[in-house]
Amino acid sequence: MTQAIDRIQQTQTASAEKTFTALRCKECGETYDLGAKHVCEDVCFGPLEVAYDYDAIRRQVTRATIEAGPKSIWRYKAFLPVSTDNPIDVGTGMTPLVKSNRLARRLGLKSLYIKNDAVNMPTLSFKDRVVSVALTKAQELGFTTVSCASTGNLANSTAAIAAHAGLDCCVFIPSDLEAGKVMGTLIYAPTVMAVKGNYDQVNRLCSEVANTHGWGFVNINLRPYYSEGSKTLGYEVAEQLGWQLPDHIVAPLASGSLFTKIHKGFQEFIKVGLVDDKPVRFSGAQAEGCSPIAQAFKEGRDFITPVKPSTIAKSIAIGNPADGVYALDVARKTNGNIESVTDAEIVDGIKLLAETEGIFTETAGGTTIAVLKKLVEAGKINPDETTVVYITGNGLKTQEAVQGYVGEPLTIEPNLENFERALERARTLERLDWQQVSV
Ligand SMILES: *Cc1c(COP(=O)(O)O)cnc(C)c1O
Ligand SMILES: [Zn+2]
Repeated sequence: MTQAIDRIQQTQTASAEKTFTALRCKECGETYDLGAKHVCEDVCFGPLEVAYDYDAIRRQVTRATIEAGPKSIWRYKAFLPVSTDNPIDVGTGMTPLVKSNRLARRLGLKSLYIKNDAVNMPTLSFKDRVVSVALTKAQELGFTTVSCASTGNLANSTAAIAAHAGLDCCVFIPSDLEAGKVMGTLIYAPTVMAVKGNYDQVNRLCSEVANTHGWGFVNINLRPYYSEGSKTLGYEVAEQLGWQLPDHIVAPLASGSLFTKIHKGFQEFIKVGLVDDKPVRFSGAQAEGCSPIAQAFKEGRDFITPVKPSTIAKSIAIGNPADGVYALDVARKTNGNIESVTDAEIVDGIKLLAETEGIFTETAGGTTIAVLKKLVEAGKINPDETTVVYITGNGLKTQEAVQGYVGEPLTIEPNLENFERALERARTLERLDWQQVSV
C-alpha cells in the first residue's frame, strides 16, 4: 500500500519535472522564452530550436517506461516540448518497421528495413507526427486558429487533427496539387486557400499572414515545436530494432527538417543512455526537378542556391529549403550522401516498392526508393549495412503520378469460359514480357 502510494507520488513528481527549458538559436546560441517564435530576432535572425535538460530526461525515462507507454508518439513525451498530460493523441506514430527481404535481394543488400509512414494515422503521412506536437503546443499557448503553408500532406494533417481537437483551421496550398491531397484536406471542412504559385510563394504569403493575424502556423511561428515531432521517426526505429541504431538511413528532403531531426533523435537516445553510441550514415533523397540540397552537396558548397521546382514529387518540392544547410551538414559529417533522381526514376521507385514489398507510396517515397537504388549501384551503400529507408507518404494520394504506368484490369463476362480465355491471354502476355526481359 505504502509502496503503491510512493510509486504514484514518484510518477507525479517525475511528470511535473520539466524536460525542455528554452528556445535556443541554432546559429548564435541566444536563448528565448518558450513562446510562439521561430527566429532569433534580438541577434542574428537564425532559426530557433527547443533546448532540453537531458539530466531531467535521464531521470524520468528508461526503456521499460517507454515500452509501457501509449502506442503512439506520446510514449516519447519526455523528449517532446509539451507540458500537458493530455496531448492530442489520434494514434499517430508507432508505424511498422518492415523487414524488406525481397527488395533487399533485388538490390543486393543483406539487411534492409522500410519505416512505413504511408500508414501513419490519421492522414497517412509522417506529417501527422509534427502536427500532433504542433497543435498540442498551439493549445497550450492559447491559439484557437491554426494554419500552415503546405505542399499537400501538411494541409491534410493540420485540417484533420484540428478537426479532432476542435480548433479553427485555415490552410494554404499551391493551387496545382494532386486531387487526393486537395480532397484529403477539404473533407475536414477547414478554410482552404489555393494559392496560384509554388510552395515558396505560399510560404512567403503565410509569413506575412502570421505577422498580422495571430494564428498558430504549425511550420512558421510554431516551427520549433512542430519540427521536434520528426524526432519520433528516429526513436521508433531505434526501439523497433531492439534498442539499437541502424548503420545507414535514407530519407527524403524537402525543407530538410525531418532528416536533421532523425539525427537529433538518435543523438538524444545516445545521450540519455537508451542506446549504445555508434556511427549512423545519413543519406538524403531529392527529385532532380527540385534538388537545391543535392546540388549543393555535389558541388561541395555549404550554402543553398534556391531553385524553381518542376517535378511530380510535389510533396517535397521546396525550392528554398529552410533547413537545407543543416541537412548538408548532417550528410557530410556522417559520411552519407545526397542524391537526386528523375521523375521517370521516381515512378519506377514507386512500382519497385509496391511489387517487392506490397507498399504503395507516393512520389516522395518513390524518390527515396530510387535514390536508395542509385546509391547501392554506385557502391555508396555497403551490402552489409543495416539500412533503414523512410517511406513518408501514401500512394493513394498521388495516383496521377502512376496513371498510365500500371496494368489494366481484364474486363470479362460473368462466366467461366470467358474467364478461362482471359486467363490464357494474360498468361501469354506474361510469357512475352518474361521473354523480353530475359533475352
Ligand atoms: C513534407 C514531406 C517530406 C519532407 O519534409 P521536410 O521535413 O520538410 O524535409 C517528405 N515526405 C513527405 C511525404 C512529405 O509530405
Ligand atoms: Zn541567433
